[in-house]
Amino acid sequence: MAPKKYQTHHGMHDLLPEELSKWQKLESVIHEVAKRHHFQEIRTPILEPTELIARGIGQLTDIVSKEMFSFERGDDHYVLRPEGTAPVARAYVQHNLHQKGGSQKLYYMGPFFRAERPQKGRQRQFHQFGAELIGSPDPMADIEIISFMMEIYDAIGLTDTSLKLNSVGNPESRKNYKQALQDHFRPHLHNMSEVSQHRFETNPMRILDSKEKEDQEFIEGAPIMTDYLTPESQAHFDKVRRYLDQLNIPYELDSRLVRGLDYYTETAFELISDQIGSQDALGGGGRYDLLIEEVGGPATPAVGFACGIERLFLAAESANIEFDAASPLDVYIVTRGDNAREWALSNLETFRQNNLRTTMNFDGKSMKAQMKDADRHSARFCIIVGDDELNADQFTLRNMADSAEQQLTFDQLIKAITSDR
Ligand code: AMP
Repeated sequence: MAPKKYQTHHGMHDLLPEELSKWQKLESVIHEVAKRHHFQEIRTPILEPTELIARGIGQLTDIVSKEMFSFERGDDHYVLRPEGTAPVARAYVQHNLHQKGGSQKLYYMGPFFRAERPQKGRQRQFHQFGAELIGSPDPMADIEIISFMMEIYDAIGLTDTSLKLNSVGNPESRKNYKQALQDHFRPHLHNMSEVSQHRFETNPMRILDSKEKEDQEFIEGAPIMTDYLTPESQAHFDKVRRYLDQLNIPYELDSRLVRGLDYYTETAFELISDQIGSQDALGGGGRYDLLIEEVGGPATPAVGFACGIERLFLAAESANIEFDAASPLDVYIVTRGDNAREWALSNLETFRQNNLRTTMNFDGKSMKAQMKDADRHSARFCIIVGDDELNADQFTLRNMADSAEQQLTFDQLIKAITSDR
């Protein structure tokens, strides 16, 4: 019996070379924008302690209650990280980064995992980039985070997006609001969905997130968070709005925006695209002034964002944004005979040291097949090498664009190719 062929798990994808050239381009844009904003990269493990994620994100959130990939080994409980903020908060606490003085500006990118039902724009392994500004309660820090996020989309030309903004207030604001929501929903509870009935006690704000049909008429008339902000929370929110106006960053107020993670306080935002189907959030974030303390650190205000890379590409595709094609090959060395192959092998380095992308054929194919291979890789030039060429130090340089050929010595070859760029 032939051995079985294996497939990736549902919702998990290979990234093949053709696709990765645009990933590399995006990654370089992210690094570049991060440098301009003076954020420093942080990389945390893929596996985190389950308890950290449960505490950080909240036991009752969808992510923790049903979407975690987790396992045990001995006494240790591991989870494949579902998001980046709790891990960065853990690293901040573990390495006493607060002792460095001043606020920390960190960014990250990499794979994340959630056992969601796969569909367009929603995988079980997906990728995010994100940033955290830890240590400042100032609304200006919120703006630095939002402008970092927006600049990445600007830099790739994805401007057809909308920024939704809300405030979920401080704990006192939320306590007042929770009360108002419960008073509003209580008389209708028996007509509402089972999930919302469950959320009524535990987290009534999440009812506003409900997609269930029977809930919608009650959600429509529900009280609005921003009417319950304490004066401090209101002042914070007003400043965020004023600074956004000053920076000409357009936004829409969205009083229903609550975000799916429990750790948010004050500012909450989401970047939406109407070009990518029902999973329309490109990214989101907000303030999380209580998280660092929740995971064992000193009371430290912070604000951050996280964006999905796959969804960014979906939006870029529908906006016909081109990412640079894969870097073309400069030189393909076509060989005739074993001496020429050995010569090519030992001279590849000379081309490469001249910053020329160079390869030869490693399969021992015929010259005709090698020429085809060079074409397939969009080589700019071919060099044709056999015993005669080696003995005479005269090589054929073929320009693949117009098939023009010249006879050149080895030194002349390199000069001709480098001066043609
Ligand atoms: P969240 O922290 O859940 O708001 O996620 C931030 C961003 O990550 C979202 O706006 C999406 O762009 C992306 N994202 C979250 N979950 C998934 C998923 N399962 N598949 C693809 N992208 C996701």
